[in-house]
Amino acid sequence: MDSGYTIGLGNNDSRTRIDANEDGIKFWETQASKLYWFEKWHTALEWNPPFARWFVGGKTNASYNALDVIVKKNPKKKAIIWEGEDGSKREFTYEELLSEVSRLANGLKSLGVKKGDRVTIYLPMVPELIISLLACARIGAIHTVIFSGFSAKSIQDRVDDSKSKVIITADGGRRRGSIIKLKDIVDEAIKDLNFVENVIVLTHTNNPITITQKDKKWKDLVGIMSSSCDAEMLDSTHPLYILYTSGTTGKPKGVLHGTGGYLTHLYSTFQWIFDIKDSDVYFCTADIGWVTGHSYIVYGPLMHGTTQIMYEGALDFPTPSRIWEIISRYKVTILYTTPTALRMFMKFGDELPNSYTLSSLRLLGTVGEPINPEVWKWYFKIIGKEKCPIIDTWWQTETGGALVSPVPGLETIPLKPGSATRPVPGVHLSVVDEHGKDVKNDSKGYLVVTKPWPGMLLTLWGDDEKYKTVYWSKYKDMYYPGDYAIKDKDGYIWMLGRADDVLKVAGHRLGTAELESAFVSHPSVAESAVCGIHHEVKGESIISFVVLKEGIIPTVLLKEDLINHIRKTIGPIAAPDQLHFVKKLPKTRSGKIMRRLLKAIAKNEQIGDISTLEDEASVDEVKAAFAELKQTLQKF
Ligand code: ATP
Ligand code: MG
Repeated sequence: MDSGYTIGLGNNDSRTRIDANEDGIKFWETQASKLYWFEKWHTALEWNPPFARWFVGGKTNASYNALDVIVKKNPKKKAIIWEGEDGSKREFTYEELLSEVSRLANGLKSLGVKKGDRVTIYLPMVPELIISLLACARIGAIHTVIFSGFSAKSIQDRVDDSKSKVIITADGGRRRGSIIKLKDIVDEAIKDLNFVENVIVLTHTNNPITITQKDKKWKDLVGIMSSSCDAEMLDSTHPLYILYTSGTTGKPKGVLHGTGGYLTHLYSTFQWIFDIKDSDVYFCTADIGWVTGHSYIVYGPLMHGTTQIMYEGALDFPTPSRIWEIISRYKVTILYTTPTALRMFMKFGDELPNSYTLSSLRLLGTVGEPINPEVWKWYFKIIGKEKCPIIDTWWQTETGGALVSPVPGLETIPLKPGSATRPVPGVHLSVVDEHGKDVKNDSKGYLVVTKPWPGMLLTLWGDDEKYKTVYWSKYKDMYYPGDYAIKDKDGYIWMLGRADDVLKVAGHRLGTAELESAFVSHPSVAESAVCGIHHEVKGESIISFVVLKEGIIPTVLLKEDLINHIRKTIGPIAAPDQLHFVKKLPKTRSGKIMRRLLKAIAKNEQIGDISTLEDEASVDEVKAAFAELKQTLQKF
C-alpha cells in the first residue's frame, strides 16, 4: 500500500473534526443552520432504530436553498453551462434558472400535482432535467428520476412502483450520434398504467412523436405560466425523492430521501470534499439518473452557487478526447468522474490527454467503484500533473452523500492510492466481523455505519420491512452497506469490493477489488473482473475475465504471465483457475461491473434481473468464453 502523496490545498481546519467528535448531534445542527429554514427544528434527531428523522419540526425547501438563496446574493452568477453532444450550447444564470423552475412548478400545479404526489422524470442530460427536479422540490412533489438509457419495461416497473401521476420526458435524447426516442419509449411503458394522468414533453431533438390527450408540450405548458412561484414550506422530513439503486447486486431498490437532513449532508460534504470556491468551474460527468447527479450536480453544487458544466452525450464521442476538449474549453477546475470512465481513457493512452491544456484543474474526484491504485496514479500523474489531490469518495444511493472521502476543503492529509481515506466529519464507521465485533487494524471485514447520519435514507419506498431486512438485519443497530473493507493502522479505509462477491479460497478471504487491481497493475491489462465458483477442495475456485489494452494480442503466453503476476502480487492462493480474455465486461448502465452475472453464467444458473445492464452483448461475450472453455476441456 503506497503512501506519501500529501497534496494540500492550504486548508488546515482541525476544529471541525474535534467538534464533530465531541458532540455529533450539535455538530450537525451547526451545519444545518447554514441552510435556509422557514422555521427552525425543535428536535435535531429522532432516532427510532432503524428510522432516523433529522431536524424534526423544521421547515425548509430544497429548491429555495438551491436557487432563491443564491439569487438574493448573486442573481447573475452562471449556474449551468450546457453542451450537447452535437456541439450546441446553452447557459443559465441562477436568476434564469429560478424563473424556469418557477414556471414549471406552476405548470405542474396547473395539472393538479400536489405536495407528496410522485412525478417521474425521464429526460436526457439537458438543463430541463435540473429544472424538473427543482420544480418538483419547490411544490413538495416527490421526484423520481429514471436514467434516460432505460427501456420501456424498466420504466413501467418503476412508474408502477412509485405510482407517479405525471411523467416528464422529451421527444428524444442524443447519444453516440444517434437519437434515443424517449417519448416513444414512455408511450410503450405507460400503455397499461391508467393512473398516469399527464406526460409533459420537451422538444429537444425534433424527431416525430405521437401526441395523445394526456400529453402536454413543455413550451405550451410553461409558456403561459408566471415566472414566480413561492416555495412550499416543507417539513424537514418531507420526502424529496425516490431513486432506484444501480441494480448491481439484483433488483433495484426504491431509496427514499428526506429534505433537511439530506440537504445538510450535501451542503457540508460538497464544501469539505471539493473545497468549493466562487471562481470554480465544476464538472461532474455522472448522469442525473444516478444518485451522484442528484447529490453532486443538483443539490450540493447549487446550494453553493457553483458554476458547472453539464454535458449531454458520451464522453468519448465523436472522438476519445471529447472530455479533455471540454475541460480545456471551459477551464474546468474540478472534475468528478468514475473509475470505469478513467479505465476507458487510460486504454486510449497518454497522448490524448497530454495534447490538451488541462492546467485549470485543481482537484480530481472519483466515485462508483473501488479505484485501482494503478488508475489512481494515472489520474494523479497524467491528468492532475501531480498537482491535484485525488478525491476517492465512497458512498451509496442510500447514504445520500459521501461518507468516506478526503476532505481537502478542511485538511491536508497524506493520500494513499486506492484508499478513500477516512470517514468525513460527523460520520462513524467500523470494520467488523460476522458477529459485529471490530476487527483488528489491517484485517478484512464488513464496513458498517455505527450512528445515523443526516443523508441517511428514510426507508425503501413503500417497503419498511425490506428496508429493515436489507440494511439492519445482519447487525443490530448498525447500518450494513454490503461492502467489504480494511481499516489500516492510520484509520484509512480500503474498499475491497462487495461483501456478496468475497472469494473464499483455501481458508483465505479475498475481495474482488484486490484481485482486479492486481490484474490492472499489469501493463497489458485495461480492466478485469473476477468471481468464484464452488470447488470441492479449495472451497472456491477463482475465475477471471481480462480486457486487454488497445493493441495487445491475447496469447497463451500472456495468460501464463498474468497468472504469474497474480501469484507474485497477491500470493499463490490467488492464482485464478480460469482466465478468459474478453472485449468487454458486463456492466450496469451506471458503469459498475456486474460480477453476479459472471458467476451465474459460470454456474449455469438463471442470470436474474438484467434490466440495468449496459450492453446485452457483454452477456454473450461471457457465455461464449465459457462455451469455448468447455469445448477445450472436452477435447482432453
Ligand atoms: P444495488 O444496491 O441495486 O446492487 P449499487 O449498489 O451498484 O446497486 P449504488 O448505490 O449506485 O448502487 O452504488 C453504491 C455502491 O457502489 C457501494 O455500495 C459500493 O459497492 C460502490 N462504490 C461507490 N463508490 C465507491 C468507492 N469510492 N469505492 C469503492 N466502492 C464504491
Ligand atoms: Mg447497493
